[in-house]
Amino acid sequence: MTKYKLEYIWLDGYKPTPNLRGKTQIKEFDSFPTLEQLPLWGFDGSSTQQAEGHSSDCVLKPVAVYPDAARINGVLVMCEVMMPDGKTPHATNKRATILDDAGAWFGFEQEYFFYKDGRPLGFPPTGYPAPQGPYYTGVGYSNVGSVAREIVEKHLDLCLAAGINHEGINAEVAKGQWEFQIFGKGSKKAADEMWMARYLMQRLTESYGIDIEYHCKPLGDTDWNGSGMHANFSTTYLREVGGKEYFEQLMEAFKANRADHIAVYGPDNHLRLTGKHETASIDMFSYGIADRGASIRVPHSFINNGYKGYLEDRRPNSQGDPYQIASQILKTIASVPTSAKAAAA
Ligand code: ADP
Ligand code: MN
Ligand code: MN
Ligand code: MN
Repeated sequence: MTKYKLEYIWLDGYKPTPNLRGKTQIKEFDSFPTLEQLPLWGFDGSSTQQAEGHSSDCVLKPVAVYPDAARINGVLVMCEVMMPDGKTPHATNKRATILDDAGAWFGFEQEYFFYKDGRPLGFPPTGYPAPQGPYYTGVGYSNVGSVAREIVEKHLDLCLAAGINHEGINAEVAKGQWEFQIFGKGSKKAADEMWMARYLMQRLTESYGIDIEYHCKPLGDTDWNGSGMHANFSTTYLREVGGKEYFEQLMEAFKANRADHIAVYGPDNHLRLTGKHETASIDMFSYGIADRGASIRVPHSFINNGYKGYLEDRRPNSQGDPYQIASQILKTIASVPTSAKAAAA
């Protein structure tokens, strides 16, 4: 038997966006535990805005498990928050009720800023560094500083060791701003991995005295880029059948549901979706081929393959909840009849 360190991780009840929380329990197993072997656990919901003090117990239900390479015999356990009966999802548990479909693939591009001493990493104590230009995909100390790359590389290795589908890294447009991409099949799988990747990044940067700033426009109305979390998506139908007519109907549905999408695409998005800095206006829906100023970018490959493949919704922001973002995309897609459905009707 081996003693494993189980880190139970969940989303708290803070609004507008939840924070990650985690606590450790030690349990003995013959070998690395499976999800089925992991017990329910509890926590004090009155300290996480998930319960009143007089009845404070909330239940943690394990839903995904990953190796934790940062700890000896470490296990990362993604959890849903349940009511004391252990069966009813807590009101803050969005994951329990989202739409899912194993044929729906999601690639999230998480942008974020490293923050140290209350400002982006590499910013001088007062004023600004040299303007944007050389930082995006940049190399060299004056562009990316001395620790950012070490952190993103370590984060990449932690994600890969955990079995998380980390797909890539790049330095972003603003100084101190970076991106990583997570790809997953199914909304829950992709979003679980994104939340876990966020957790690993936040935990990793503790020892550097660095925080992760997820706000979509931390530098306000300036010439510094905001942060998004572009959601690339495809369904089995979009990949295998697609077609111009279906695509145009899909875009009509995205246009009609614009407000429902914006509602779950992250707080303060009006500060980011201004029409500047490679964004589209929050009040209008648009799409365009290879257009980074559109709400939805249609990759060249999509058109070249006969309107088949994936699309990029550029509106979700860096603070958005990937569970809700993926679910809303699936909801809108489900409202559009496919030719098989249309023929059957
Ligand atoms: P860019 O910065 O040019 O927008 P990235 O390379 O950062 O592009 O991100 C592209 C994303 O698209 C990746 O996360 C990738 O996983 C995702 N992706 C690629 N193919 C598909 C697909 N068929 N379905 C869903 N997502 C996809
Ligand atoms: Mn990208
Ligand atoms: Mn980017
Ligand atoms: Mn993108």
